[in-house]
Amino acid sequence: MAETDDKIRCDACPVLCYIRPGMTGACDRYANRNGELVRVDPHILLERTLSDGGEIVPFMTGGREWTGDIVNAPTPFVTAIGAGTTYPDYKPAPFIVSSNIDGVDMVTVVTEGIYSYCGVKVKIDTDRHLGAECATVRAKGEPVGHVTTGEYGSQMLSLGGVNHLTHGGKKEGRVTCETLLDLCNRKAVELTVDNGASVVVEAGKPPIVNGQVEERMRVGCGSATIGMFAKQWHDKVDEVVVVDDHITGVLSEHQAGKLLGARDTGIKMKGRRSTPGRYFHVAAPGTGWGGADISDPLEIVAGFDPKVAWPGLTMLMVSTTGEQHAFYRLDESLKPVEAPLPENLRLSVERIRENCEPALCSVLFMGGAGGSLRAGVTENPVRLTRSVRQALTTVTAGGAPVVIWPGGGITFMVDVTLLPDNAFGYVPTPAIVAPIEFTMRLDDYAALGGHVDHVRPLSDIVERLAKNNAKASAREAPARIKA
Ligand code: SF4
Repeated sequence: MAETDDKIRCDACPVLCYIRPGMTGACDRYANRNGELVRVDPHILLERTLSDGGEIVPFMTGGREWTGDIVNAPTPFVTAIGAGTTYPDYKPAPFIVSSNIDGVDMVTVVTEGIYSYCGVKVKIDTDRHLGAECATVRAKGEPVGHVTTGEYGSQMLSLGGVNHLTHGGKKEGRVTCETLLDLCNRKAVELTVDNGASVVVEAGKPPIVNGQVEERMRVGCGSATIGMFAKQWHDKVDEVVVVDDHITGVLSEHQAGKLLGARDTGIKMKGRRSTPGRYFHVAAPGTGWGGADISDPLEIVAGFDPKVAWPGLTMLMVSTTGEQHAFYRLDESLKPVEAPLPENLRLSVERIRENCEPALCSVLFMGGAGGSLRAGVTENPVRLTRSVRQALTTVTAGGAPVVIWPGGGITFMVDVTLLPDNAFGYVPTPAIVAPIEFTMRLDDYAALGGHVDHVRPLSDIVERLAKNNAKASAREAPARIKA
């Protein structure tokens, strides 16, 4: 921190803001309070409840709510949320805390990492086609990512990353950063896909596709649905077609139908037959029946073989969520004529719906704890990576468990719904600020070249934070300035 007149220079990130008294810096994370540079948000400590030892409650956080769980956390656990950042990188992390857990001396190093290379992976539970693979995803008109490979019953987006944050125009970087921040802090964000749909994404909530709330995630593909419900249809209807943009199932041809002795119906499907009773590409992707571009399911039926089919043949057509269904009876010319759904089939349609899970949006933050961030932990950063690889060091983000990618570096992903509210921040470089904690045995920390001179006992930190957080909640919030 440096001072000019009554302003203070914040040196917690490369922006190096000069902050007037009563104001915050460009990121709203640091403020000048009576000549003192302070981190605005409370520093979050977590502690286990006594009852089951598993659920976590916030420690002295001025009323902020915590709804997640934590794995293998010391009691209490010092998170990096609100801990602040040190810059440049060779400085030790803001908090290096020792504690004794079950007779073992442990240390937790916490910092709010600044990630210029980071993004989110978004899983959207919907059959509706959002856009072609690799299509650009936009927020406020700016490109912020792309559609990636679709997975089972979900459409996937890959957003952010170094190219959108730093290689595009200034506005693209700013909007990308804002979008990532909102998604990570579980706010609703409207995205549009080039030549595709608009979708409102909010972690842990149902997606809204083209203004329509998605309620259910498919029970399975068309073929799997035939396999699951064949017994309930056998003897009640002659043919069942489960309409699915990916794999449409046809009961009379499917192995499930064959094993139950289903009679051939002579149905001819459009698309490409993969294996008996399983059809690919019956229509183009869309937002209609089964994620195809059809509102009339008969569009995917090419006809019936007159040598096999018969007048009066009955057929149920249903989507993979059971949301859409129609019942038909063939007339004298073997043309399907819609009729009311018989009561004995209604139960099977309702059973499909009942077996669908609620459709949700999932957001995983993904970032790499690069060489610079690791330097705050140890003077020899590669040793931290090795220690993580050897499972000597546990990595958490705001107390939540992370998944670490194999390969170089410490690249991790975390489900944003497992972190306390507003755990993420930003700096206008632009980059996302995310909490990260490294926990290891004290002797392992010393062995990897850790900043042992900066280790402070947990009791001191707890006492100091309790006082600071109490003071902070009693103070007026500082005025905030725009970036
Ligand atoms: S953007 Fe925030 S962290 Fe960076 S210098 Fe300004 S106040 Fe400090």
